[in-house]
Amino acid sequence: TTDAPRPDVLVVGGGIGGLSAALALTLQGLRVRLYEQAREFGEVGAGLQLAPNCTRILHDYGLLGEVVRLGFLPEHMIMKDALDASELTRVDLKDMERRYGFPYLVTHRSDLHGVLLRGCERAGVELVTGARCVTYENIEGGARVTFADGRSDEAEIVLAADGLHSVARTLLVDDEPVNSAYVAYRGAVPFERVAANDVHEKDVVLYVGPHCHFVQYPLRGGRMFNQVAVFRSPKALAGRDDWGTPDELDRAFEGTCGPVQKGLPSMWRDRWWRMFDREPLTKWVTGRIALLGDAAHPPLQYMAQGAVMAVEDGWVLAQHVGAQLAKRSVRGSGVDWETALAAYEAVRPEHCRRVVLTARSWGELWHHSGTKREQRNAVMRARDTYDYAFMDWVYGPTSLTPDQEPPMYRTIPLDSVRV
Ligand code: FAD
Repeated sequence: TTDAPRPDVLVVGGGIGGLSAALALTLQGLRVRLYEQAREFGEVGAGLQLAPNCTRILHDYGLLGEVVRLGFLPEHMIMKDALDASELTRVDLKDMERRYGFPYLVTHRSDLHGVLLRGCERAGVELVTGARCVTYENIEGGARVTFADGRSDEAEIVLAADGLHSVARTLLVDDEPVNSAYVAYRGAVPFERVAANDVHEKDVVLYVGPHCHFVQYPLRGGRMFNQVAVFRSPKALAGRDDWGTPDELDRAFEGTCGPVQKGLPSMWRDRWWRMFDREPLTKWVTGRIALLGDAAHPPLQYMAQGAVMAVEDGWVLAQHVGAQLAKRSVRGSGVDWETALAAYEAVRPEHCRRVVLTARSWGELWHHSGTKREQRNAVMRARDTYDYAFMDWVYGPTSLTPDQEPPMYRTIPLDSVRV
């Protein structure tokens, strides 16, 4: 146990989810200590898309200006067919900003992570690195965590933002990550490397193809360019352990259009990300221990909402805490944690369940071949650029209570589409 005074809240995990939750609760006046297992805080040097339901919250924390300055505000989001490069549909992101009140932006992960880290430092979050949490337990009036080196710490609550392989999650469910057999290659390079490649300098472009897709967007004011290549691994389907290797990358994109082919040589080939999600979980809280971010709801990244949902989680909990502190009276932090955590658990798991499941079907739609591909293309081409029916429930204001949650759109059965 450290000598410093006992904090109100412990956060385990210093990713985007943990840092933003620590910041949110500190801005409500609570004392927060955050533990990260790595020796240094950091993120992968690749891109991240942040939808209006995240930029709205960054604005609330006073951080949006800095994130916009470091990032890029794309003009359109365009979906194309990866085989023939034809445009299927687009979103006008300036119009989208008018609709939702906040921008859709793209950022370098380490820039966003750095903004959150500096925000935490300024707000007074106590940041501890090199501390790997191995157990969580509820105690009288709070919760305790123990670290690999034998130290322990306790507070009124513990938020576990410890990612896909969360230790805390095992207190709630005995499950395993679900292997999608898809793998992602990334590459963020100076813009000059791709300038001659038929790229859109100001847009997010997604090429959807049979069992593969390719994403491109600028970063850092257009000085860098981010690409993501995702494909289904035959070796994964065959049950092999050595799946997702660069030879599979090359084969997966054979037959794709020129702009995709030209982008592939700029991918990093020395590391790749195998894509797992988990079955949705409806209980995230046990006593004074609560899950947050990927620990609670790791998605496949097809809706670009993983980090965004993690940011929303911390904001929602802090809003409920803030509402209580407005009527502050008692000892300790003055928070009635049972009520605050129940309010958190009443709204977030259902929303995130929808996103995780929709991300799976969204991925299936992207990866169709044959007739289904043609049906998909017909549906996408028929979409009005200014139709937001599929987006309001995600990009609209984050709900604080279940009754604010907008109804989910109904998926279009592809078999009913004539091509
Ligand atoms: P993590 O980032 O996994 O952070 C967990 C932290 O906890 C880490 O720092 C880890 O070191 C620490 N930790 C773990 N265990 C312990 C322990 N026992 N003790 C102490 N510390 C511990 N999301 C978007 O919103 N937009 C996108 O465009 C997007 N694109 C993506 C593209 C790809 C290819 C992938 C793979 C994901 C993408 N995502 C995107 C998803 C997003 O990256 C994640 O959902 C998000 O980073 C999760 O944040 P987190 O803080 O919950 O977890």
